[in-house]
Amino acid sequence: EMLANQIAAGEVIERPASVVKELVENAIDAHSTQIDIRIEEAGLRKIQVIDNGDGIPSSEAEKAFKRHATSKIHSRDDLFRIRTLGFRGEALPSIASVSEVTLETSTGKEKGTYLHLKGGKIIEQRSSDARKGSKITVENLFFNTPARLKYVKSLQTELANIGDMINRLAMSHPDIAFRLVHDDNQMLRTVGNGDLRQTLAGIYGVQTAKKMRPIANENLDFKIGGYISLPEVTRASRNYLSIMVNGRYIKNYLLNKAIIEGYGSKLMVGRFPIAAITIDMDPLLVDVNVHPTKQEVRISNEKELMDLLTEAIRQSLSKVQL
Ligand code: ADP
Ligand code: MG
Repeated sequence: EMLANQIAAGEVIERPASVVKELVENAIDAHSTQIDIRIEEAGLRKIQVIDNGDGIPSSEAEKAFKRHATSKIHSRDDLFRIRTLGFRGEALPSIASVSEVTLETSTGKEKGTYLHLKGGKIIEQRSSDARKGSKITVENLFFNTPARLKYVKSLQTELANIGDMINRLAMSHPDIAFRLVHDDNQMLRTVGNGDLRQTLAGIYGVQTAKKMRPIANENLDFKIGGYISLPEVTRASRNYLSIMVNGRYIKNYLLNKAIIEGYGSKLMVGRFPIAAITIDMDPLLVDVNVHPTKQEVRISNEKELMDLLTEAIRQSLSKVQL
């Protein structure tokens, strides 16, 4: 069981950012409206996620660390989840097997639960206060798997990965207030009032968000919305091109290309805009059967969507006095 957890950890938990992703997605799944993430030493020393979500009933808390103990099987029909179905109920046991985990959780209706585990073994369990929500702390990641520790890149790279991850989760959930603090520096804070532009202000700064313009276009298959930066606001990396399909962050090379195409000659070679594009479509048109942890997806009628997106961006920029 312990070995199985460590093997699973090798697949799900590649680096600190994967831990952050799993913990924050759990907080999102638990209907939180506020999620606080605190990181020390790019997550290797400490990752703490505090949410105000449903909490785990005291009778279930211990089970959450057992393999395949998911409370979410009903979401099988959610197409976006199918690609992570193999990992259902594996995140917490995997994380716990390669670190030291403290969980404080309460449904708000009964006493809460305090659980402390080391290398997957429970070393303390007691009741705790009844504040609704969960606080989960992961310390000394990979302390017992030195081989994995070797694959961890520089602290700066790992921190950038965590930052990117939270940016994506925050912009796909404008209705949740996120805060990310690294070694006492606040890296991000979003308002959580459902407004995408204000969420972008929390991520990229108010000045940058002011230089973003709304886009909109639709046909029978697709509905496109979101914001793109004016051509004067560019970055040297494609990393700032964000696409959310039906509320989930995805990666798609051709759609990135379609965005850049929309800027035409307004963009210098090697420069990329900031974009947060939302696309709503029939989930059946999305092929998620790609690598489980990668976000790359394929879309049917991709060419049609590319043209629609390029056109949306052209139109939005043509309304701007350049
Ligand atoms: P999965 O998310 O695939 O169900 P996990 O290992 O990530 O599996 O979590 C196991 C279970 O623990 C979840 O199904 C959920 O019931 C519970 N859980 C984990 N984190 C939270 C949280 N922050 N709030 C409420 N419940 C949680
Ligand atoms: Mg999970």
